Amino acid sequence: MITPALSGSLFVVAAPSGAGKSTLVNALLKLEPGIKLSISTTTRQPRPGEQDGREYHFTTPDDFVARADRGEFLEWAEVHGNYYGTSRLTVEQEMKTGTDILLEIDWQGARQVRKQFPDAAGIFILPPSIEALEERLHKRGTDEPHIITRRLLAAGGEMAHAPDFEYAIINEEFNVALAELQAIVKATRCRFAQQAARNADLFAQLGIHAQQPTL
Ligand code: GDP
Ligand code: ADP
Ligand code: 5GP
Repeated sequence: MITPALSGSLFVVAAPSGAGKSTLVNALLKLEPGIKLSISTTTRQPRPGEQDGREYHFTTPDDFVARADRGEFLEWAEVHGNYYGTSRLTVEQEMKTGTDILLEIDWQGARQVRKQFPDAAGIFILPPSIEALEERLHKRGTDEPHIITRRLLAAGGEMAHAPDFEYAIINEEFNVALAELQAIVKATRCRFAQQAARNADLFAQLGIHAQQPTL
């Protein structure tokens, strides 16, 4: 028997720094306005042009640790020498109302999320080459050279975790990668459990009685 579960899809997108994750996700959100991006909390310094509450909630290490101790983060991790975390309250509230949520987080956070939400769709964005990654980080122009070096050194270790993800996208031609990302979103929304949760009345009228989705 299907009850009208309030069930949003959860998308987890990870990538080495500079692979194009944020640019792809921002373009996706324009095509799929029903998806809400979770704004992480971080102890990293804002980059020029970044606004508190838009790209991130920026905070101090002391405040971050206190909040982590209080269990306020669904997941958190240290990445490139800074802390990053996802608000538990925001994600749980949005998912209860059936909103689709996208997390842009690193592989350590993705692992923590997978344990709590095994049905989350995990997507790993890959650059077409290490050289392209380096070139993109330089061209983006947001980070000091020593920070770029640190991020490039971390890229191999991060990509070693790509096989833990359900989907891989190679971001060579931007529009091709964007179409692939959108296709994954559409396919995930058509998963039987998701459709049944969103269309409970119709499924009941059609005499379809399935297991409750876990998300
Ligand atoms: P980017 O790599 O250029 O996008 O640089 P950022 O400084 O925005 O992000 C640094 C790393 O932290 C990336 O691997 C992000 O995916 C990761 N990250 C951002 N927010 C979160 C979060 O809330 N939780 C976790 N675990 N990682 C995050
Ligand atoms: P990330 O969030 O993964 O660190 P960004 O989205 O900031 O990466 O992208 C890094 C840089 O690469 C940006 O300047 C962006 O405009 C550029 N970029 C993204 N995708 C492509 C692509 N397919 N081809 C060329 N440049 C790209
Ligand atoms: P940047 O400092 O370039 O914005 O992000 C660096 C890395 O931190 C990226 O790989 C990004 O995905 C990751 N990151 C951002 N927010 C979070 C978060 O809330 N949790 C985790 N685990 N990683 C995050």
